[in-house]
Amino acid sequence: MVMLSTRLSAIAAKIPAGSRLADIGSDHALLPVSLAENGTIARGIAGEVNPGPYEAAQRQVREAGVGKLIDVRKGDGLSVLTPGEVDVISIAGMGGSLIVSILEAHPDRLEGVNRLVLQPNVGEDQVRKYFLTHNWILSSEELLEEDGKLYEVLTADKHPDAERLNEEFYRERTIGRSCQLDREWLLRLGPYLVEAGGVVFHSKWERELAKWRRIEKQLTESELPASQAKREEVRHNIAKIEEVLACTGMDRR
Ligand code: SAM
Repeated sequence: MVMLSTRLSAIAAKIPAGSRLADIGSDHALLPVSLAENGTIARGIAGEVNPGPYEAAQRQVREAGVGKLIDVRKGDGLSVLTPGEVDVISIAGMGGSLIVSILEAHPDRLEGVNRLVLQPNVGEDQVRKYFLTHNWILSSEELLEEDGKLYEVLTADKHPDAERLNEEFYRERTIGRSCQLDREWLLRLGPYLVEAGGVVFHSKWERELAKWRRIEKQLTESELPASQAKREEVRHNIAKIEEVLACTGMDRR
């Protein structure tokens, strides 16, 4: 039996029983193989664009003896799928912009898909913005730590009234004691994550804060006029993150 890491386990937990799953950028196909072994998925497709990971996926499927359930396909993103073939797609372990470009490249392959489980390594706001602009409802967000790295697992579902629900969901609002957050900041922080707060959330945004402070220091040392304007933007980011950290709790509510 394949053993999943904490990160892949969190993704696996979002795949409904009986799903026809496509895992795009599957590498060793650990996720679909594990879900086939424990009987969660009815069918799986592992998509890979690169030859090494594609062969590793084929080997994993063969060795686990789940070849009847999982098809390993070589190709770019969703191009390996035919419309209506799967109802859940997972894409994990890449940057948010690459995940979005994969989804946008073949919108017809999303026909019949009612859940997306995405785990961007960076650029989570771009993934949330994709959900918002393509009428997906963000149904859950999980922030987890593994080997010192922080990961977000973002799950979205199809909903007939998504446009109206999203308008409400991303309306400017007050979080915690007195934090006013507009759409841009809700997309950056994660609406559920900022509401929940907690130690891991603080750890993530303390790291972001440290990054922005380093950038501010570099800009302060620069004499270029463009650096002055950029410094204002960076200071705004620092002030907002400090405000969010001050008004969200360390205990997960
Ligand atoms: N999904 C696995 C995980 O989360 O552990 C593997 C992540 S690995 C870091 C990213 C994988 O995505 C690589 O194996 C890479 O070959 C594959 N990949 C990158 N771009 C892709 C694309 N456009 N279509 C399919 N696979 C892609």
